[in-house]
Amino acid sequence: MFRFKPLHEKGLTKLFVGGMHGDECEHTAPLLNMLAEKVRDEGEYCGEIVIIPCLIRRGAYVSVLRHEYYERAEGRRLLSLVRELKPSFYFELHAYGINALSRLTAEDRLEREGAPPLVEICECVLIGSVSPILRREFGKEDFCLTIELPKWRLDAINACDRVVGCVLDILTAGLHACTREDILRFLRRRYPAQLSEAERLFKTLHDAYYDAY
Ligand SMILES: [Zn+2]
Repeated sequence: MFRFKPLHEKGLTKLFVGGMHGDECEHTAPLLNMLAEKVRDEGEYCGEIVIIPCLIRRGAYVSVLRHEYYERAEGRRLLSLVRELKPSFYFELHAYGINALSRLTAEDRLEREGAPPLVEICECVLIGSVSPILRREFGKEDFCLTIELPKWRLDAINACDRVVGCVLDILTAGLHACTREDILRFLRRRYPAQLSEAERLFKTLHDAYYDAY
């Protein structure tokens, strides 16, 4: 766990977490370690930064969309972190195999799994809302984002740098943003088509439950 104190008295906290379940830590940890290095080297960010490269190093695969997840050690740790830190920015990193792509982006994912489909933002990297179970722990104005990394592309030397570059850009914008509008503005400008689709889907969840991200 890396914790960087705020540079100015902004009073907000940002939480970046990976390795939520299964073997995903292998893929999320290198990236979140790079993010921590960036914070240390560049020293430019807004608020307090907390980075957890692996919530669990290797665990069972229980979906974060299921209540059972939050009864396990990793889920309880996540809940207590969120309750203690009260982050206003929350980034949850996962890693998925190519076989899961159609399920994660399926139009009927909300009915089948309880969360809207994820949207490809760049290089097979998917974004979407966080689990509705966890979203309830946050305030309406908090910014929460799930990012799914494509495992097979991170394993391919010729694609790995592009995937890492794209995700680090998004996370870096998260480091610099002081408000939810700041990061939304960055994402909309960089990925206009993907964001309008993602925001439409976030809205479906909002209509189904409440504000989703
Ligand atoms: Zn996952």
